[in-house]
Amino acid sequence: MSKFTRHGKRKRACMRKKANYNREMETISALIVAAGRGTRAGGGVPKQYRELNGKAVLAHTVEAMLANAQIDAVRCVIHPDDHELYTCAINAIEDHRLQSPVLGGETRSESVLNGISAIDSDFVLIHDGARPLVPQDALDRVIAGAKRTDACFLAIPVTDALWQVDAGVASHARPRDTLWRGQTPQAFRTALIKNAHTQATKPADDDVAIARNAGITVTPILGSEQNIKITHASDFRLAARLIGETMDIRVGNGYDVHALGDGDHVILNGIKIPHTAAMIGHSDADVAMHTITDAIFGALAEGDIGQWFPPSDDQWKGAASDIFLRKAVERAEARGFKITHVDCTIICEMPKIGPHAQAMRENLVEILGIEMDRISVKATTSEKLGFTGRGEGIAAQATATLVKT
Ligand code: MG
Repeated sequence: MSKFTRHGKRKRACMRKKANYNREMETISALIVAAGRGTRAGGGVPKQYRELNGKAVLAHTVEAMLANAQIDAVRCVIHPDDHELYTCAINAIEDHRLQSPVLGGETRSESVLNGISAIDSDFVLIHDGARPLVPQDALDRVIAGAKRTDACFLAIPVTDALWQVDAGVASHARPRDTLWRGQTPQAFRTALIKNAHTQATKPADDDVAIARNAGITVTPILGSEQNIKITHASDFRLAARLIGETMDIRVGNGYDVHALGDGDHVILNGIKIPHTAAMIGHSDADVAMHTITDAIFGALAEGDIGQWFPPSDDQWKGAASDIFLRKAVERAEARGFKITHVDCTIICEMPKIGPHAQAMRENLVEILGIEMDRISVKATTSEKLGFTGRGEGIAAQATATLVKT
């Protein structure tokens, strides 16, 4: 090999590396088209603002885009009448990548062009506001496809038989081997699709058609059956079921015992109750609150109260147990979990818990930051059997349900 060729090879490899590096540096925006009226789905408001599992369809869609770390910015195109609906829908989303919405036009194409004009990223993923369930792996595929080809879209090869039906009867089967069902995102180098939209002279169903009309080669990338477009009322039921299947719901349990000794009161779930004995423990020995704390740590699979607050550590001596519970709540929040329910059972003969149960729930409302009807405090005896029956100690157990938001 001559020195010249070797040099040429090295130079080409270098250029290739540089091109790859540049491609990695290129920015990506998601443009969510949500300016339609979507009245076929019923419900009085446009379908993208209807509630699906506790939040607007559009909020799910925006969150799906924000969940992808490769996406640098997310912008919605909305109908001029929908400002209030939009603000309400995205209210709980705190992410600096979500940019202020752009107003749509008379047609879908006009809306998309308005959106693209507000984008300065190298690539744009144009996505239907009514496709809230696009999975991350499909997003990753379409992003990789865009970087490779400059123009691509998610689609699924048709597997059902396709029948030509004439006058209500099957006439003949149509070949399906070359047919794909188109989905979104449809992803393009922004300058290319902007140019295609600006030049477009006839209306088109989607951006693949706009690109094709402008002579751009567009490649299908394997989509996902989960990436449904909500169109009819029944699609909401299907979407809710699909969300349920992918939901991270956790149930944790906690159990604790503290011995009774000399004293004149016990503290249970933060409430001081006069008694002929006191509970013995390193902290305030609030056996009930300890079990709730452990139930939350259990749901998170983050150990137990003893690991977070070792009894050997003097700073927790006599500590009020709400410190421990607040820590568990903080960990749940940090991990993206919402505590949806807590059920605590206290096991003792005396003192009577019933008269204090409501005060305990009120105290837990403040600490857990959830509604009263999601917090249960109840009591049972052990029929005078065992250590709880003999009044030597108080036991408690709790269950906590956490849902990833
Ligand atoms: Mg304890």
